[in-house]
Formats: sequence, structure tokens, C-alpha cells
Amino acid sequence: MKKKVYFKTFGCRTNLYDSQVMMSSLQEYEITENEDEADAIVINSCTVTNGADTHVRSYISHVEKHNSKAKLFLTGCGAHTKGESLLKENRIHGVFGQSEKQKIDKLLKKEQPFYEPGDLNHIDDMVVDEFVGKSRAFIKIQEGCNFRCSYCIIPYVRGDARSMDETRILEQIRRLASNGFGEFILTGTNVGSYGQDTKTSLAKLMKRMSQIRGVRRIRLGSVEPIQISDEFKEILDEPWMEKHMHIALQHTSPKMLKLMNRRNVYKQDRELFEFLADKGYAIGTDFITGHPGESEELWREAMLNAAELPLTHIHAFTYSKRDGTPSATMKPEVNGRVAKERLHELQDLIDAKNLAFREKFRGELDVLIESYKEGAYHGLDQHFNKIVVESDEDLLGNWITINDYEVKKEYNYARV
Ligand code: SF4
Repeated sequence: MKKKVYFKTFGCRTNLYDSQVMMSSLQEYEITENEDEADAIVINSCTVTNGADTHVRSYISHVEKHNSKAKLFLTGCGAHTKGESLLKENRIHGVFGQSEKQKIDKLLKKEQPFYEPGDLNHIDDMVVDEFVGKSRAFIKIQEGCNFRCSYCIIPYVRGDARSMDETRILEQIRRLASNGFGEFILTGTNVGSYGQDTKTSLAKLMKRMSQIRGVRRIRLGSVEPIQISDEFKEILDEPWMEKHMHIALQHTSPKMLKLMNRRNVYKQDRELFEFLADKGYAIGTDFITGHPGESEELWREAMLNAAELPLTHIHAFTYSKRDGTPSATMKPEVNGRVAKERLHELQDLIDAKNLAFREKFRGELDVLIESYKEGAYHGLDQHFNKIVVESDEDLLGNWITINDYEVKKEYNYARV
């Protein structure tokens, strides 16, 4: 009988991919969904904040209580920051970096405790896809990041930016498109840096993708403002571009951007966003509230700037300390309650802007229906806005065009 292995994945989409690669590389073990019966448990960890490290430690304690026979293995970003200490404490059997994941069979068999951090410059030669429903596919196109934002540990645990092989990406898309996938979402640690190391570019890749039969809409994960090059601006009017972009600002106060060691500059961000909005784009951003040094005065300035920007979506986070990053020792710190209040203030502002955008647009919506919940279909339109559709027909996985709809506070609604 084959031994059983259980995978516990923490963190982001990248880790989900890596777990998927490990699972598909396994040959001599059986995957189990039940951690209590596992002979081996692979913890694919996240280390993005101190809190994420704590989750991994408490999970190890939980396993120690419930399944003391299982051998524990640690991989993912936490392997680089916490691996050695956990190994010394005898709490895990082996540590390996994400570059080693395709050797999973060999690693699980090792009798002696081991530490194999691997190579931070590694790039997968396998393009793994993850599918949501039957019509949307996430494609990882690069790994790592060359930026050094003060609060972020990612470049230290994921390495510098490197791109996946274009021929493989396109091959994968061709295969998925011929199987009925119409929407492709390009992801990675820093998607906008795709191609810098391989003498190509994101715009070129997207143009090539669009020529594949069946590719209907292309969406991008988060990009950085300075990555919207002139070449990229030329594809903005293409019909296959999703009319929504997620561009990470993280802040809108110039002083805060400096403290955070960001490469974007507010004045230019504003010009770029206005340019995109004039082209009909809905624009989302990431924002961190409560980073050390964010005084009341700088926060007010940031809110005034955010109010000026044509934003429609936001992923706002309160700052969370990560040891080993420059921000972790910066002073003065911002009280957690204040950071939360700021987050809500910003969120309310962008929610109101989103509603105003939808009310003003009132045009045709190009919708991909992705799920069916509580008697209605749910989908996203070309602006990444939610729509709830009631219908007697089975719409799941369909693309539909909707002209007649009601704009509600949190989403659009239609009956077809
Ligand atoms: S761009 Fe900044 S926040 Fe994003 S992964 Fe790179 S260093 Fe981290």
C-alpha cells in the first residue's frame, strides 16, 4: 500500500500553484484529504507577515497533538525564514525550497532530517494552470520580484523576477482555449516585469495570446504603474483587453511612498490613471494603511489624493509587521485601531466611486457567468464589477451581453 501525504497550503495563489505542482509530481505516494491519516504532511508556508509565521507554527502544534506519527515537511516562503529554527527544534523532519518541489517523491523518502533551501533563481519548466469553473484559467507567467518595497519580504524568499518560457505559456493557452476556456488571467509575483529578462514584454505576450483562436478576454493580475509602458498603452483599445486594470499604488502620499521605498510617484500615477479612465477603464489598486510614519497629516493628504483619482476598486490592507524588512524597525508606529479606521474610510470612498462609475456607464455589459448561489447566477463584467442575474435558463459558464440592468449599491442586477 502506498503511503499517504497531506498538503496544507498557506498564503497566496503562488503557493496554490506550487502545491499543485507537487501533487502532480507525486508518484510513489497517495494524496489524502484527511490529515489525521497522513504518513507525511507537507506544509507549504507563507511568511508575508509575522502573523503568517504564527499560523504556520500553530498548525505544527495542532498536528503534533492530533497526528504524532506524521512526518512534517516545510516548504514555501517560510522555509527560508523559519525552516532552520523549526528543524533545530526537532519540530519538522525536512525543509525544502520551492525550487525542489518537483523532487517531492525523493524528499519525502529521506530517512534523515534535511535542509535543502534550493535555488532562489529557479523557474518552473512546467506551466501549471488552475481553473475556476469551466471558462476562466489562471496562468502563471513569472516568478519573483526586483522591487524592494520597505515592508515586503517576498523578494528575499521568492528571489528576483524571472519569466516563464513564452512558447510553453502559449502552448498551454492554445490547449485550454481549444477546450473551451475563453478568459485568461495572467498571474505571478510581479506580473508587469514579465519579459525583462527574456527580451520580450507583457504587451507582446498578450498580443500573441489574443491571436489564439478562442481567447476572448485577457486579464492581468496586479501591475506596477511604471510597468505601463508606451508599448503597453498601444494595446489598451484592443477588444480582448478586460476594461479593468489593477495597478498597485500602495499609497498616495508622496512622503509615504518614499518611506515605503516604492517606485511610483503620485503625480505620474494620477496622469496614468486619468489616461486609462479616459479610455473607459475601471481601475483598482492595492493600498496599505497604518505603515509606520503615516501621521494624521499624511493620511489626510493621501485621502485627498485618493479622492482625486478615478479609482473603482480597492484591495486595502492594514500594515502588518514583517521582521527582517526595513519597515519593521521604522518609527513611529501607527496604532492598529487607527489603521483599521483609515482602511474603512478609504474603502467607503472607493465604494462610492464604484457606484458612481456604474451609474455613469449604463452601457452594455459583457459578462462571464461564474457561479450559481442562492437561486441566482453571479458573474463579472468587463469592468470587473459584480452582476447578479436571475434566469430560468442554465447560464453557468456562459458569456452573455446585458443591456437592461439595475444598478444596485454593491452590484448590478439583471433578469434575463
Ligand atoms: S512589488 Fe513590492 S510589494 Fe510587491 S512583491 Fe515586490 S517588493 Fe513586495
